[in-house]
Amino acid sequence: MHLTAFLAATLREDPSGSLPAGYRRLIRAGYLRPAATGVIWLPLGLRLVSRIGDRLTEALEARGWARVLAVPGIAPEPGGGAGGGAPAIGSPESTRLSPPPGLISLAESYKRLPLKAFQLAWRNQAPQAGDPFQSAVRLLLEAWAVADRPEVPAIGKELAASLGSALHPLGLDVVLAHLAPEPAAPIELCIGSGGSGSEMLGCSGCGFVARAGSISVAATSPDAEPLLPLERVATPGADSIPALCSLLDLPAERTAKAMLIAGQPPGEKRDQVLLILVRGDRDVSWHKISWASGWRKLRRATPEEVEATGAVPGFASPVGLAHPWILIDQAVANSHNLATGANQTGFHLLNTTCGRDYAPWRVADIAAAMAGDACPRCGAELHREMGCLLGVCSPLLPELGDHLGTFADRSGGAAPLAGVSLEVDLTTVVGALADRQADDRGLAWRPMVAPFPAQLIAMPSCEAQALDLHETLLQRGIEVLLDDREASAGVKLKDADLIGLPVRVVVSQKSIAAGGAEVTPRVAGGPRVVPLEAVSSEILRLLG
Ligand SMILES: [Zn+2]
Repeated sequence: MHLTAFLAATLREDPSGSLPAGYRRLIRAGYLRPAATGVIWLPLGLRLVSRIGDRLTEALEARGWARVLAVPGIAPEPGGGAGGGAPAIGSPESTRLSPPPGLISLAESYKRLPLKAFQLAWRNQAPQAGDPFQSAVRLLLEAWAVADRPEVPAIGKELAASLGSALHPLGLDVVLAHLAPEPAAPIELCIGSGGSGSEMLGCSGCGFVARAGSISVAATSPDAEPLLPLERVATPGADSIPALCSLLDLPAERTAKAMLIAGQPPGEKRDQVLLILVRGDRDVSWHKISWASGWRKLRRATPEEVEATGAVPGFASPVGLAHPWILIDQAVANSHNLATGANQTGFHLLNTTCGRDYAPWRVADIAAAMAGDACPRCGAELHREMGCLLGVCSPLLPELGDHLGTFADRSGGAAPLAGVSLEVDLTTVVGALADRQADDRGLAWRPMVAPFPAQLIAMPSCEAQALDLHETLLQRGIEVLLDDREASAGVKLKDADLIGLPVRVVVSQKSIAAGGAEVTPRVAGGPRVVPLEAVSSEILRLLG
C-alpha cells in the first residue's frame, strides 16, 4: 500500500485540548481526524479496527460461533435510534440486546440449539462516562446465543471467557466481573486503565477491577444487637444522610436510606415504582437492582410517582407504607435498630428493623461495593482505581420478560427459548490499546493488531529500489506500508515512529552501499542491514 494513496495525515504537533493520551496519539499519527461535528476514520484507523475485529472473529469462530450480519429493517437499532442513539453499554437505561428476529427464526428445533452468532456493526450509541474515546458512532461486537433455558449460564460464561481470552494476546487483561452469585447473572468485561476511563474498584492482590455497582458484596452476618422499641424523633431539615448523622450523632452505617425508582416489571409495559432501602453509608447499584428485581428501563421516580406511594422525599422509608414493591439490601435486612425516614417531613424513626417494622417484597445485594470491601476473587481489600468497561454479557430469560419464542423440544412439544447477549465496544478497545501500545515517540503496535506488519521508507533517490522491494514483499504475501511521499528523511522517520508499525525498513543510498535495506523493530532492538532479498524473512523473524 502506498502512503501517497492512503490519506496520510500525521500532525506535527500533539492535538491540543484535554483528550486522553491514546486518542491524541491516534489523531496525531493519522488514524482518525476529528472535525467540528463527528470524526473521520482514516485508512490506517480502519485497518486497525478491522484487524481487531478479525482477531475476535477468529477466536469466536474457533469456538463454534457463526458470524452474521443483521441488516437494518430486519433487526431494529437498539433503543430505536432516536435522540442521539442507544444508551451507552452498561448504563442503567440500556436494555438487553435482543437477537435479530431472523436469527431466532432459525432456532425452530432442539436440533439447532444452541444457536450461537455474532456480528460486527457500527452503531449510533452514546459513549460511556469517562470513555477515552468520545465518539457517538461506535464499532460494536454483538453476540447472541439462543438456547434451552438450562444451557444459558454455561453459554454466558463461555462467551465472556472467550472474549476475555481473545483480547489477551491483543494486549488487554480483561477481568470478568459477575454481578451476582447466581449462575446466569450478567458478566461485565473490564480492564484497569491506569489513568483514563472512569473510577472503579480494583484489587492489588489479584488484579481484579470492576465498576463499584457491579461487584458482589458479601452478606454481613445478622446483627446480634437486641431489638429496641421504635421511636419517632423530630429532625427538622435533616433531609439527607449526612444531615441526619450529624443531627443524631450517628454513624452512617446505623442508618438506612430509601430511594424510589420507576421501571417496568417483567412482561409489563406500564411503569411501576420500586422502594429501595440500602444502608446509609452505601450507594445503590442500579445494575444489581435491575438484576434482583428483573425490572427494566430503570429511572428515578418523578415527584408525582413518589407521592402516589405515600413516601415523603428526604424522609422516605418503607415503615407504614402499603406499597407492594419494597426491595431491601441484604445488609439492611441483617441489621437491627437503624434510623430511617418517618414518611413525614421533619421526622425520622429510630430503631427500625426489617421484618418487625416492615415486610420486604425481596431482599438482595443491591448496594454498590466500596473501597475497603473484600475482593470477590481473592478476598483482599478493594481500592479505588481507574478502569474501562469494555462490554456486558447478559442473560435473556423468559422469567425476566425476554420472550424469544418457542422451539420444538425432543418430545415434539413447544418449549420457551432463552438466550445470552453480549456487546463489546471495539471503539473503547481501540482507545485502550492506543493507551498501552505506545512510547514517547508514538504508537507501537503489537503484530496482532498492527494495520500493517512494516513500514517501508524510500529515501531520496532510492524510490525505484524501494518500489521493487515493495513488489517483492507483496509477492511473498507481506503487505507493507510504503512511504513514497516526497518528504525529507527526518519527516518520514518521525512519521514511522508516530504510526507505530512493528518493523521499519529503510532503503537509502547508505543502506544500499552497506548491502541492502536497514531493518529496525519499532519496540526493542537496533537497526540491521540485510540484503534486499532477505528483507521478507527478516520481517517475519521480527514479527515472531
Ligand atoms: Zn483480588
